[in-house]
Amino acid sequence: MAEQMFDTARTAPMIDPFGRSISYLRVSVTDRCDFRCTYCMAEDMAFLPKKDLLSLEELDRLCAVFVEKGVRKLRLTGGEPLVRKNIMHLVRQISRHLKSGALEELTLTTNGSQLSRFAAELADCGVRRINVSLDTLDPEKFHAITRWGDLQRVLEGIDAAQAAGLKVKLNAVALKGFNDRELPEMLRWAHGRDMDLTVIETMPMGEIDEDRTDQYLPLSLLRADLERQFTLRDIPYKTGGPARYVEVAETGGRLGFITPMTHNFCESCNRVRLTCTGTLYMCLGQDDAADLRAPLRASEGNELLSNAIDEAIGRKPKGHDFIIDRRTKQPTVARHMSVTGG
Ligand code: SAM
Ligand code: SF4
Repeated sequence: MAEQMFDTARTAPMIDPFGRSISYLRVSVTDRCDFRCTYCMAEDMAFLPKKDLLSLEELDRLCAVFVEKGVRKLRLTGGEPLVRKNIMHLVRQISRHLKSGALEELTLTTNGSQLSRFAAELADCGVRRINVSLDTLDPEKFHAITRWGDLQRVLEGIDAAQAAGLKVKLNAVALKGFNDRELPEMLRWAHGRDMDLTVIETMPMGEIDEDRTDQYLPLSLLRADLERQFTLRDIPYKTGGPARYVEVAETGGRLGFITPMTHNFCESCNRVRLTCTGTLYMCLGQDDAADLRAPLRASEGNELLSNAIDEAIGRKPKGHDFIIDRRTKQPTVARHMSVTGG
């Protein structure tokens, strides 16, 4: 009976109350990380207790249910996904859905520190594109922003990824007074190496050691600044994520803008986010969540789980309301980005 019920779920795509079809799952496989980026984490972080983590088998089962229910794109993130023990076992398991054609894309977002080790195997598992987060090309500034990171290692990781045939996109959080002046140089560097670059507005998620108002740079300002040096042409290019792209005439490359603060992109949201403890967040910028660990563990069949997912999608909110200003000292959501993943 359970199997039968589940087969019915396969034919019913996940549609939220606002008519948006959910086809993209982001999975934070760990909230831990080997960096402590100042806009993302406090230096002294309390992580989720290890006993609460889902096993890799449980994560795989959850992903399989989402794929059955219509997810076509799956991104592993974190924390740093490549520091989760035996992560490649999970990647290989999930890659069976690529082979079967049920999944269109398996990808990940990484800080690049472990890429030299894993790039070839990722490519072998059918991963074609990855996002690498890189906020500066200056070794000292890199160390300052990541607190624990080593730029050289990340650059070697990017080399390894490209050598393995992975298409690399760089993500940089635009930070006032930190990398705003450097972004034109980063753009030239990225495009010179055949990598797209996406810039992101910093979001008020979780307590950090610094004042976010000091870091926040609206991308409308950055774009106006870049337009003094470059010719930017809006293009309809889409990767399934929230970025809006322009083509840069001088370099021939693409530049993406992710603007959760200045331009709410929620109307086309196709995503939900799963944490490493089995909590499903229907929106990055809201606290409402659904526990999938209990239904996952309650039965070997997937009916309970499938119902819990449907119930959660049925309350996906319309959007987020991030605020960063001098009066609003509290982050909009208490959890850090590393819990739900970027
Ligand atoms: N550790 C991996 C990495 O850094 O790519 C994956 C997880 S990280 C949370 C995903 C992305 O979120 C990174 O590109 C990071 O720069 C971005 N990020 C983290 N905290 C953020 C914040 N408060 N606002 C905007 N982006 C943030
Ligand atoms: Fe780690 Fe990524 Fe957060 Fe930096 S942004 S601390 S690399 S999870």
